[in-house]
Amino acid sequence: LPTTDFVKATMLSNIKIVLIQTFHPGNIGAAARAMKNMGLSQLVLVNPVDFPSEEATSRAGQATDLLENVQVVGSLEEAISDCSLVVATSARDRSIPLPALSAREAGVKLSGEAKKAQVALVFGRERMGLHNSDIQQCHMQVNIDANPVYPVLNISQAIQILCYEIYQASETDKAEYDEDEYPLHRELELFYQHLEETLAGSGFINESHPGQAMEHFRALYRKARPTKKELQLLRGSLAALQKS
Ligand code: SAH
Repeated sequence: LPTTDFVKATMLSNIKIVLIQTFHPGNIGAAARAMKNMGLSQLVLVNPVDFPSEEATSRAGQATDLLENVQVVGSLEEAISDCSLVVATSARDRSIPLPALSAREAGVKLSGEAKKAQVALVFGRERMGLHNSDIQQCHMQVNIDANPVYPVLNISQAIQILCYEIYQASETDKAEYDEDEYPLHRELELFYQHLEETLAGSGFINESHPGQAMEHFRALYRKARPTKKELQLLRGSLAALQKS
């Protein structure tokens, strides 16, 4: 089935491209252009090293409107707090402990979920990629298949390929539609806080030596991907345990 123009425009406007600590302003301009070519508009910069900049403007071509409407924030958490699905990008799949998607699968997943909520695709630093603390905040990762001898693309070219896949998936209704509603990033973070408080209160974790327990719990809930309703059930049971 062809997607109606309205559904498609809404879907594309719900997809954020998040760039973490971009070093070269030219890459920011090229990212804006790559996005606009594929119908995307929401660019979010987390602590850019040099922005606004003439270099970014000149590389943006006719996408300077995206640079004017860019959202600049101080942390990844702030960028994705209103998103229900967050996908990390990486050239190296094996070292990252998240379920991995191909570029095509990521396009289908992101455009499918963007019909009902805000979603984000997160790009790393030119030299260092994503840090572990960034990856901890994502649900899945996408790796663009490339020459194993040199699989690292220029960031704006990686953005181009993934935005193209999103655009292709948004053209048709083949995007999988999942009825469930998922919690926003900030709602999940509140749950993790509540879980940690409850575990500390019960003595299961020691607040001064918490160890890795919370990271393991995060990995477990990430795999389970609780829906909004399931998260309410978890929060309710924690509240009851805290009272008992
Ligand atoms: N040395 C860094 C390279 C970062 S390249 C590292 O190993 O992670 C800069 C960014 O471009 C990456 O963080 C990612 O967002 C994107 N990127 C580069 N190549 C990619 C690929 N093959 N698949 C998906 N994203 C890629």
